[in-house]
Amino acid sequence: MPISPTGNRDLIRAINSTLVLNTVRTLGPISRTEIAQRTGLSAATITGISAELIEKDLIFEKATGDSSGGRRPILLDLNPRGGFVIGLKLTEDHITAALTDLRAVVVAKQTFPLTGKSVEEGVAALCGAVTSLAAAHQVPAGRLLGVGVGLAGVVNAETGVLRHSPIIGWNNVPLASRMQASLSVPVYVDNDVNTFTLTEKWFGVGQKVENFLVVTIGRGVGMGIVVNGQLYRGGRGGAGELGHTVVSPDGPLCGCGKHGCLETFVADPAMLRDARLAFEQGRLERLPATTRELAEMAEQGSPAAQSILAAAGEILGRSLANLINIFNPTLVVISGEGVGAGDFFFNAMRQQVQLHSMDGLASDAEIKIDVWEDDAWARGAAGLVLHGIFESPIYREQAG
Ligand SMILES: [Zn+2]
Repeated sequence: MPISPTGNRDLIRAINSTLVLNTVRTLGPISRTEIAQRTGLSAATITGISAELIEKDLIFEKATGDSSGGRRPILLDLNPRGGFVIGLKLTEDHITAALTDLRAVVVAKQTFPLTGKSVEEGVAALCGAVTSLAAAHQVPAGRLLGVGVGLAGVVNAETGVLRHSPIIGWNNVPLASRMQASLSVPVYVDNDVNTFTLTEKWFGVGQKVENFLVVTIGRGVGMGIVVNGQLYRGGRGGAGELGHTVVSPDGPLCGCGKHGCLETFVADPAMLRDARLAFEQGRLERLPATTRELAEMAEQGSPAAQSILAAAGEILGRSLANLINIFNPTLVVISGEGVGAGDFFFNAMRQQVQLHSMDGLASDAEIKIDVWEDDAWARGAAGLVLHGIFESPIYREQAG
């Protein structure tokens, strides 16, 4: 269908408005003249758009201290508390919710139980988490600009349809539109590792990096891929299933129904399974409850704990070497609840990366082990909304 002249004008204005807002976010405080130089937009356009953004309280004017005799230039800066977003991370038995400002700073967080697994119960719990968090922190009406949902599984981020989620067993659920109908704010849904990766790209370690990978370890193994500055989702949203790449076809049964996937060797349940076996065989002195506890036992000198962690770290390291050979990233971020696996795991991992990456490619790639915060998934989901606000005109079209 051809775009009507009015629709076309509105769209161009929305795109320009987003461009100005994002320029102020990344370069502010900044003068209108400099915004014009950076964006190529006319002075009149910037005057009009900035007036609208000031009216909406998303940016504000401030005078600078730079007074070299003449008039102090008026600069524009982002008002981080001019709007709020809520990010939700859905797991099999609870929802973590984070309220953030426009710079992705977490203002409040809360955990809500997920009592039933039907789609109706799940949607009601997700919407309930949004309304109670917004009410508890007195977010003014109209200042909640959107909601983001991250969860394990294959998601069509464009349509907000959850195609398949192994953790909750939902298939082809139009999650974004179901929630949007109830909440009346834009709702974005994506795979949890993608939301986390986008937030690293926009607000974290990936801000100035064009090609990087985020590998998350914990209950499973996930991957976010940024190529040429863009998140790569694959043909239909399923890219990055690193945890289900085959390490050994005769290996242990995986949650996906196949055998010997990477996460059956290196995820937390896999290492704890190996620890239980070692304990039953009398090689490990006690049964650890978490990978972190296993790492502590290794540091205290337990040879069995050390070898379990090193064996898993080696397998992950070989996978990373394969990825480095394919993508030539300049940064690989290791993140997730599993970053507490400790030095025996990570030293073995790094050693295998060196051993199996092509000459030169390993040294191109900085490997960074993230500090993991328990609200990181929910903050990542909030970042998905912020990404929508700052990068595309979708928010303005929906908010009309
Ligand atoms: Zn699998």
